Amino acid sequence: MKVYNTLTRKKEEFIPLEEGKVKMYVCGPTVYDYIHIGNARPYVVFDTVRRYMEYKGYEVTYVQNFTDVDDKIINRANKEHCTMEEVSNKYVEEAFRDADGLNVKRATIHPRVTQEMDHIIDMIKTLVDKGIAYVDNGTVYYNTKAFPDYGKLSRKNLDELIAGASERVSVDDAKKNPTDFVLWKPHKPGEPKWDSPWGEGRPGWHIECSVMAKEHLGDTIDIHAGGEDLIFPHHENEIAQSEAANGAPFAKYWLHNGFITVDNEKMSKSLGNFFTVRDIASHFPYEVIRFFILNGHYRSPINFSRDLMQACQNGLERIKNCKKDLAYYVENCTNLEPSNKEYEAELEKFRNQFESAMDDDFNTADAIAAIYELVRFANKAMKEDVSKGTSIKIKEMLSHLCDVLGIAEDEVQSEEDAAEIEALIAQRTEAKKNKDFATADAIRDKLTSMGITIKDTRQGVQWFRG
Ligand code: AMP
Ligand code: ZN
Repeated sequence: MKVYNTLTRKKEEFIPLEEGKVKMYVCGPTVYDYIHIGNARPYVVFDTVRRYMEYKGYEVTYVQNFTDVDDKIINRANKEHCTMEEVSNKYVEEAFRDADGLNVKRATIHPRVTQEMDHIIDMIKTLVDKGIAYVDNGTVYYNTKAFPDYGKLSRKNLDELIAGASERVSVDDAKKNPTDFVLWKPHKPGEPKWDSPWGEGRPGWHIECSVMAKEHLGDTIDIHAGGEDLIFPHHENEIAQSEAANGAPFAKYWLHNGFITVDNEKMSKSLGNFFTVRDIASHFPYEVIRFFILNGHYRSPINFSRDLMQACQNGLERIKNCKKDLAYYVENCTNLEPSNKEYEAELEKFRNQFESAMDDDFNTADAIAAIYELVRFANKAMKEDVSKGTSIKIKEMLSHLCDVLGIAEDEVQSEEDAAEIEALIAQRTEAKKNKDFATADAIRDKLTSMGITIKDTRQGVQWFRG
């Protein structure tokens, strides 16, 4: 399995630190609002990386944090006359609702900054003790010049950075170098605060992730991931903090997803060109949003548009219909010949095609292409009246591959609903047998009004929602 490592700018063979195990950390959202579809991309992409690792037999420990202390949360709380906890608790819950809708599995651990304060203070203390960080009037800064590898992830040269002072680096007189960043900031009225050796205050953003990764995964981890906007300064600073404090390499592989754009511009809250997952979910099912995200390679940009969403909905429908047809076929097939070896050999080809795509830096777009080919093969096989045994194998393969991507899951029907529908279909079949077409049509209309489509097939009457 090859993964593209931002640290080396190369696709590399994935070799875990410990055989059979993967430790991965994904930067999570700052919880002050609903997540937008750009934020949903790392959720879905790295959930899929995790699923594929699990499919390959790895035991994955997946940590995704919530940043629950931040200016944006404090501002929102002040505006809404409530506490920071109330704002963050609400949006953690909303983020989980969206993640559940997107079929993103819960992380092994979802740490929150407010619950890690002692460890954060400990790591800052270590950096101060080692002479890497310095204190000025209650503020603790990281001295970027004290870490010789500074810039290794983003490939930025420290002296050039200092000279040019990039727009993301704030200018602050107390800093020794313009690239130095804040580890601890002193308390301001109206803000939450914690006690520390440098006075009351709260931590900077970057230190949080270094600490949460260390606490839950250890000093050195296999994969650290997030959107590409985090490469600099966030991930660069995480490396500087963790490696200086722990005296060990931080992450072996750095994975970054590309942007979701609107009119080819990055979707972001600050530009105001964003669509929340919740908004989109009122026009398209959540599963279509997941499918849309997986239709592109995770490192390429995806331009968000209604047309593309529509095309994805149609594509997903094709896969789901095939799954339903197969389920029905398996249930009702009367061809009990032994399963056909030729078909089964063909089936393995789709699995191989799927795995080669995913082994090549998680190329979900090509993996979906393999699934489409399998769908075509399945439809043809059903037309050719394959045996029940073979159809079971096709059905299992299709479900198996879809599950790895977390797409096209079967809808859960309540048994009562299903019994009512089956009874109506039986009445319609009886009416048709008696040539009472008026009744048969009336029943079909009733089913349509219930959102049920029926299909007459050689094996009997098949029904599905939609
Ligand atoms: P934030 O809450 O802004 O820190 O973002 C949470 C995650 O979403 C980070 O991993 C970001 O890199 C990622 N992200 C934000 N905007 C986009 C976007 N337009 N496209 C892809 N990923 C994004
Ligand atoms: Zn982070």
